[in-house]
Amino acid sequence: MTLLIDGKKISAAVVEQLAIDTKAFIAEFGVTPGLAVVLVGDDPASQVYVRNKVKQATAAGFHSTEHRLPADTGQAELNALVEQLNNDPSVHGILVQLPLPEQLNEPEIIRLIAAEKDVDGFHPLNVGALASGIAELIPCTPMGCMIMLEKTLGDLSGKHAVVVGRSNIVGKPMAALLLQANCTVTVVHSRSADIEAICRQADILVAAVGRPEMIRGSWIKPGATVIDVGINAVEKDGKRRLVGDVAFSEASEVAGAISPVPGGVGPMTIACLMKNTLTAARQQISA
Ligand code: NAP
Repeated sequence: MTLLIDGKKISAAVVEQLAIDTKAFIAEFGVTPGLAVVLVGDDPASQVYVRNKVKQATAAGFHSTEHRLPADTGQAELNALVEQLNNDPSVHGILVQLPLPEQLNEPEIIRLIAAEKDVDGFHPLNVGALASGIAELIPCTPMGCMIMLEKTLGDLSGKHAVVVGRSNIVGKPMAALLLQANCTVTVVHSRSADIEAICRQADILVAAVGRPEMIRGSWIKPGATVIDVGINAVEKDGKRRLVGDVAFSEASEVAGAISPVPGGVGPMTIACLMKNTLTAARQQISA
């Protein structure tokens, strides 16, 4: 029987613990952790993500603010808002929803967010800390994947982990975390040769490609643990559905454990954003 790695259930436990930790934090320091979420433009998917993040932050007991700017916002205006949030002591975490409209310079904004408030973990200082194994603020999606893997497998030492995708948001930080957990890590990408054969060697397979159901059942080693990060909207039988990067029904027949889409990595990402916000508040209070 293949085990379903239930992101909804695991994330609910993370959020429950977080609410307890937040209460204790507020009681100890008399400070409520604050999260500011910035959304530029009206991309429908981003609007849903931002709404969920603000809702979850409030549920965790945080002070949360939402800053919406029009799609034609200029760099100077966005920079000014980030500077204002950097200087606001009631804000411990800043999240600028990506992608930004194309007139805006994403790397500039990521660098401008104060590293200690960078709850996405994308600032170069936090990326460097992750590569050195000393990071406190870790990108949320890979952190969520690690919690799912450790919950499913316990100690990951010695396992061969294959990460498909090398983005700054998912693939690269995922590989760093797996390495830190003593896995033997292989990263494959669009220029890799014979991806199928490499995937078939994986004890742990993490798919973060953005290609609907690219990874077939035949690519999976029997008994492997599969984490599907992909979220792809497709039309099936005239209806819009979300599918992952893994062909779920085929893969479920081979894998030992697999995360579904939806209901897998998605809810973990938001739960980890909340974890990072509390971590950021704790660091800033004790700085
Ligand atoms: P991305 O920035 O587009 O990166 C995709 C990666 O996949 C790139 O490294 C690319 O290689 C590689 N790739 C593309 N086609 C490939 C192929 N045919 N064979 C092998 N590798 C290939 O995407 P991302 O931001 O990492 O996101 C990946 C997926 O995860 C998307 O579906 C996204 O929606 C989803 N996602 C989900 C969550 C969540 O909370 N669940 C969070 C973030 C992202 P190159 O580098 O060579 O171009």
